[in-house]
Amino acid sequence: MRPHLIGHLDADCFYVSAERVRFPFLRGKPVGVLGNQGACVIAKSYEMKARGIATGEPIWDCQRKCPDGVYLKRDFRWYEVLSRAMLSLVRRFSPAVEYYSIDEFFFDANPGPGASPQAFAEALRNRVTEVVGVPVTVGIARSKTLAKLVSDTAKPFGALALTDPDAERALLARLPVSDITGIASRRAARLASLGIHTCLDFALADRKRVRKLLTVVGEILWWELNGTPAQRLCTDRPPHKALSRGGSLGGPTADPDRLLGWLARNTERLVEELEYHAVTAGRLQVFVMHWNAATGAHEIDLPQPTDRFDLLLDAAKHCFARSWVPGLGASRMHLIATRLRRPGFVQQGLFEAPDGRARAVAKLKREVNAKVGRFALRSGATLPLYDVYRDREQGYDVCDIRGKLCF
Ligand SMILES: [Mg+2]
Repeated sequence: MRPHLIGHLDADCFYVSAERVRFPFLRGKPVGVLGNQGACVIAKSYEMKARGIATGEPIWDCQRKCPDGVYLKRDFRWYEVLSRAMLSLVRRFSPAVEYYSIDEFFFDANPGPGASPQAFAEALRNRVTEVVGVPVTVGIARSKTLAKLVSDTAKPFGALALTDPDAERALLARLPVSDITGIASRRAARLASLGIHTCLDFALADRKRVRKLLTVVGEILWWELNGTPAQRLCTDRPPHKALSRGGSLGGPTADPDRLLGWLARNTERLVEELEYHAVTAGRLQVFVMHWNAATGAHEIDLPQPTDRFDLLLDAAKHCFARSWVPGLGASRMHLIATRLRRPGFVQQGLFEAPDGRARAVAKLKREVNAKVGRFALRSGATLPLYDVYRDREQGYDVCDIRGKLCF
């Protein structure tokens, strides 16, 4: 019987590849994508890597090493559009998919009867590249840790199913133990003290000694390297206790129209978060900080748990009116949703105001923004914030990028 297989799909230099989808003239050229201040390269093409440029290097050094390079500012709004397109394609190939980061997915990789895992890996890689336009690498193996090692070594544009234990061992013997996700330099140094240098050394080491040295984290990796899955696919996260969106208002303001604009923007961000986690909010709190550090907060129980923008904005206005000191400049605002529930546990629409139109608007907003880009379709109440939306850098806050930390 064939073992249960896990796949890992990872886009090849994702930010650069995403830019090449909309700017095809960038293909074959050395391209660097810059961080939010434009000061350093956060992603680079293979052509730029060949010039000796490393991720995190300041732009002035890069321009000296690679004067003919093309340098672009990051645009997470666009990357997210392509990320969602990749996710929906992977879901067509697999019944269980974990969104691991903006350009990486783990998935159940068991092809139908008669199909080989290798053919499955190639078909998925080719399909994603053809439809989304981003080159990707697919690795398939007996556990998540093995699948990621396989795809890392098969880059770029690789497709490899490694299901035979002998072939697995041959690969592990070639890789340093620090290639394993979760083994950074400190853990690698501890392992070196036991004479463990390669991934194969790790897999062959005594399990109890590994546990003693690296706790249960190390033991999980040990099982995974030996082909026994010890990490589940996280396709359905447990509900959070609270979800929150907000932050700085980019300078104090006492203008009621602008404040309503921020309230609507943060409500839209919160709705995205509720939709992403597939939960509804039973209670909403609004927190306001004024320029002189005075704070105000108010919370309200919603008549029925909801993820509807119109109902949440009404509740947010109610709370804001009780937490803001009129005339005093506000500098920060947070919306916090609690008493989160899965919609399946509540009778949707039983007590809500007639919702046909609100649901249709929410659906349209979701679909247009998934296709065109975040905030392309948004509440009219955000119009006074024209300056915020005009600036692409404001399209995302760091906390809006799930699973990936960037600067
Ligand atoms: Mg990648």
